Amino acid sequence: MDKPKEECGIFGVYGINEAANYVYLGLNFLQHRGQESCGIVSTEGISLYKQVGVGKISEFFDDEKLNYLKGFRAIGHVRYSTTGSPTLVNAQPITGSTSKGALAIAHNGNITNANLIRNELLKKGEVFHSTSDSEVVVHLISHAPSENLVKAVQWALSKLEGSFALLVMTKDTLIAARDPMGFRPLSMGKIGDTIGDIGGTIAFSSEDSAFSIIEAKKMREVEPNEMIVINEEGVRSLQILPEKPKTNQCVFELIYFAKPSSNLFHTSVYEYRFGIGKKLARLHPVDADYVVPIPDSGIVSAIGYSMESGIPLALGLIRSHYIGRTFIEPSQKIRDFGVKMKFIPVREIIENKRIILIDDSVVRGTTSRKIVKMVRDFGPVKVHMRVASPPVRYPCFYGIDFSTYEELLANKFATMEEIAKYIGVESIGYLTPETLFGNDTSAVSGDFCAACFHGEYPTPLNQFSKDGFEQEIKQKYFGYSRNS
Ligand code: SF4
Repeated sequence: MDKPKEECGIFGVYGINEAANYVYLGLNFLQHRGQESCGIVSTEGISLYKQVGVGKISEFFDDEKLNYLKGFRAIGHVRYSTTGSPTLVNAQPITGSTSKGALAIAHNGNITNANLIRNELLKKGEVFHSTSDSEVVVHLISHAPSENLVKAVQWALSKLEGSFALLVMTKDTLIAARDPMGFRPLSMGKIGDTIGDIGGTIAFSSEDSAFSIIEAKKMREVEPNEMIVINEEGVRSLQILPEKPKTNQCVFELIYFAKPSSNLFHTSVYEYRFGIGKKLARLHPVDADYVVPIPDSGIVSAIGYSMESGIPLALGLIRSHYIGRTFIEPSQKIRDFGVKMKFIPVREIIENKRIILIDDSVVRGTTSRKIVKMVRDFGPVKVHMRVASPPVRYPCFYGIDFSTYEELLANKFATMEEIAKYIGVESIGYLTPETLFGNDTSAVSGDFCAACFHGEYPTPLNQFSKDGFEQEIKQKYFGYSRNS
């Protein structure tokens, strides 16, 4: 599918028997955030037990693997590789024996200065086992000047640039942290009333709606720049940097990545998508018989569009949820069926009708084009497209895998008419970066990163170049120098 690749999901529990089973359930809920590899590490206070593998949670784990994961604390990870290759060696949680003891790390995000840190550590004789940016965290903790684990983690995290939502577990401590700008989400929940003993359990999750599957209640979000430490002494909150920078949470989490049932960045994902759907209707009205969402991620915005415009919503495309990995190697002919394996049009909704297709985002436009062609085969009178986000024009450096500058549809054509012609619709309408925030959404403009839409990156670009040259990175990722 032509969507930016989701990054990763992390889930952890502290203080409950069969902790690994709880993490297994939580990760199942977070599976939409990464399907390439998965893993869980647990502890009963003596040793760390680890199971990581390639594939989805339900494909990799079985009773035997879960029974091996002893203990009452566990952290887990589902991964789509944003840096590092998608192999077993990069599956998480990562474990390591450090000067502060054995520990495990589950990381969601992209550490933008990982290569610089890695090169420094290689010069000091360190050996790396993976190509993942997350491994540098283990090495930094080991190199930290303090012998105290909490201080060592705080020191290591203060050296990182880019995005991280992180769980660090040793045999007696669980630490949860969000990077100082808060790019990626992380929430804290609890089961029971007491904390940290057998009567109460703390849980952490990339998305809070995963708590319901283990009957945990959300307590609050881990805030940007915050480190929460849980051990026998109780629960403590610390700051990573003494001075917190401006918050820059990823607005694409609200637009596409997170489930509509989640609430993150103090914003309901459902209400957000509903609100921008309403804005889209006001910004780009058009006469039609039906508003038709492209499932699943376009559904809530389509409801908003329909309510605001008064045009009835109809499920004119039904998604097949059961076509995924198969044990047969599909022939090229079958592969060419493409979107037809994912979506089935409903003739009664489309034939002889004027319809408005609603999608959450368009990246390269290749899938949109195929969907429109498939819809046209069912004989509509007119097909319009409305997109509940602005045109994606710039690459992301904070953990989301977009296409290259040249591949992005919005950079290929100069006008909306040209884009509409390419996709095969009568008209197309997007939101603008400004309309992502403010009324009808509870998202506050200043608290969010929207760099992939407007190109105003919240961090200097030169940190992404190994030699620190901004021109080099502009040339590499934008294909031209934006200041020249
Ligand atoms: S550039 Fe876009 S995808 Fe990347 S963090 Fe910012 S808003 Fe999210």
